[in-house]
Amino acid sequence: MDFGKPPFFSEKINLPPMLLDRFIPPYPYGTLTDMLSYCGIKDGWILDPIGNQPTSIIELAQSGYQVFVACNNPILARILQVMCSGYNESQYKAAIADLGALRRGEERLESQIKALYNSPCPECSSIQTEVKFHWKKNQIIPYDREIECHNCGFSGVVKISDFDLETLKKIGNYNLHRNRAIQRVLPGNIEIPVAVKEVIDSYLPRSLAVISTLINKLDSMQTTADRKNIIEALLIHAFDTGNMQWGINTGRTRPRQITIPAEFYEFNLWNSLEEAVTKLRIVEKPIPITYFPQLPSEKGGICFYQGRINSIRNKNLLPFFEAIATVLPRPNQALWTYNAVWSGWLWGHQTAQKLKGALERRRYDWLWHTQAIRTVFDFASKLKIPFIATAPELTNSYILAYLSAASSSNFHLQNAAYHSELKTGQFYWFQNTSKPPSIPIINDSKNLSDFLTLKSEPANYQELLSIYLISKTIDESEIFKTNLTDNTLLMQTQKKFEKNLLNSDLFIQVDQDQLENADFWLTNPPNAYQPISDQIEGLFIRFIQKKTNFSGEEINYSINQNLPGVLPASPLFIQRLLNSYCQLVPNQLNYWMLSPQEYFSERKNDLQLMVKLIHKIGSKIGYQITGTNPIQWISNESRTNFQFFLTASSIISQFPFSPTKKNVDTVIIFPGSRAELISYKLKNDLVYSQHYGKFHFVKFRHLRTINDNPGLNYKTWVQILDSDPAVWHESNQPVLF
Ligand SMILES: [Zn+2]
Repeated sequence: MDFGKPPFFSEKINLPPMLLDRFIPPYPYGTLTDMLSYCGIKDGWILDPIGNQPTSIIELAQSGYQVFVACNNPILARILQVMCSGYNESQYKAAIADLGALRRGEERLESQIKALYNSPCPECSSIQTEVKFHWKKNQIIPYDREIECHNCGFSGVVKISDFDLETLKKIGNYNLHRNRAIQRVLPGNIEIPVAVKEVIDSYLPRSLAVISTLINKLDSMQTTADRKNIIEALLIHAFDTGNMQWGINTGRTRPRQITIPAEFYEFNLWNSLEEAVTKLRIVEKPIPITYFPQLPSEKGGICFYQGRINSIRNKNLLPFFEAIATVLPRPNQALWTYNAVWSGWLWGHQTAQKLKGALERRRYDWLWHTQAIRTVFDFASKLKIPFIATAPELTNSYILAYLSAASSSNFHLQNAAYHSELKTGQFYWFQNTSKPPSIPIINDSKNLSDFLTLKSEPANYQELLSIYLISKTIDESEIFKTNLTDNTLLMQTQKKFEKNLLNSDLFIQVDQDQLENADFWLTNPPNAYQPISDQIEGLFIRFIQKKTNFSGEEINYSINQNLPGVLPASPLFIQRLLNSYCQLVPNQLNYWMLSPQEYFSERKNDLQLMVKLIHKIGSKIGYQITGTNPIQWISNESRTNFQFFLTASSIISQFPFSPTKKNVDTVIIFPGSRAELISYKLKNDLVYSQHYGKFHFVKFRHLRTINDNPGLNYKTWVQILDSDPAVWHESNQPVLF
């Protein structure tokens, strides 16, 4: 495999949070357009046969393609449709007003629902408050509440009041609500499937009461079609925020199963409806949507088919597609089960029936998933067009599922890019139109050693296995073809991979971890040693010297364009570089600029000053001084000689790791703002630390301090040389861009 092109296409812009994004596959905005352009496909019809990622579809339409989307999931379909409509804020407000104005008895629905969340301020007793309740699993009352008072400004976590407990009793007849929520999905007195019960039981009584009240009003509601669509999309967000899957202190989680956390939030669901607006307003200019068989105009837009791609009857009405472009999903039982139930809540049991598979199936194993994806590839193979896909949240078993499904449908993987930290693959499949060329005997280890040579850093078992699977499929098109009854493929492949990896003539394990977590490096390292972290820093420096203002995504994207597709930059590492060299542009979110002390001219002055200091200190303590970079301190006495390398970066691999003469210590003189980077590299990369760990790392400021030492002699020099080392603080900032 040639590891050069295509590069890994990372996101161009960071979109704000959107509806259901904790369930929907993560998608770097811009990827599919870039991948299609890479294949020379710049316009025409694109088919998304899975349709599970609304932003990817919107992006393709915005890039000028005509997009045909087949999507069997009515929830995702509604979200896509409302997003594409580009409704303005007042249209959303009008829809919410229509919903709020509905009557339940004498009272407006809005005030009735809001009243269920009234919670008095502990300071001023006002109920003009925003509240989130804290619950423990299996309890009947919350244990705490987070409150913000609009009247006196109080905010904090306080005890539940008697008033809160009284309000909790006002939800009405819980069994009635519960029964209604079930009947909307499955009418009649049939036995309730476990999946439906699981969904219903993942709602607190108050949330279920509010939801049941809202859905009960939907059928009789008189409003415009647009507003109805908006209300349905807003309700989807309320259904999602209403369940108990919002753990406290669990960080951002991506639920795949319906499991209730030990502690979780309860949100005000009327507020959720209002919050949903910003999560739907992704598109400024409306994107035309038509429903198959009607097609949008040539100017672009989306044609939508609600159902599985295989179920289209009049296929002769389909347009001519240039390519398939899609996001390959992982099975997500939580999303699919919720969506089946929510479809029933919004549109009744007949719609829920379309997703009944999700209510019946409890487990999605490797074979099931490979089969499911295979049906998409089978359909695609009849069209004889390229299949371009990005696949997030990969494990090696999913990688193999996709590679195997595609091979089995006669698709040949021609190119691929892979981000091991983000666990995202970008795949370019083409139809095997003729027999693949006869391939010389494949040396299984070669791709692994080529990869490690390019990386010039150790790689872990999982990363190497991913590379092995992908590169082997590119080299030997049909290697993972399977009859889809055999689920031992991964195990067999893994064995072959391990046999290669454990060949000590080629690879060495650099740590003491268990095999599947271990890091590996080349037994015979390359002559030209430039670790990927240093390569990335070089590209980073070139970029920041050219541009005055840039976003984190922009610089990451640009760097990746210059790296092999299997070695894209880690966003966490880019963040470290930004922290070291740059500062945020004031009053501009997410934009960076060079820190003043990092200007080329500033650093040049610093380096000149450091050269002077090295000369001055060396003379003072009795060394002869020669050379420039390195500057050598040579002594005839029996003491250590030194060589000094000066740098404004933390690219230490630009310097040789062993001095030409014995009894010479190497000192790197560098700016203090690089300390964390150097320290990070030494800790993170065992080969780096083997090479450079014995160097003395001296900050500019420390050299100044040493120079200011009035009684400096050889002894004190040796004592204080390492007293201000490069230190990496674990508590580094999280990714911000
Ligand atoms: Zn107050």
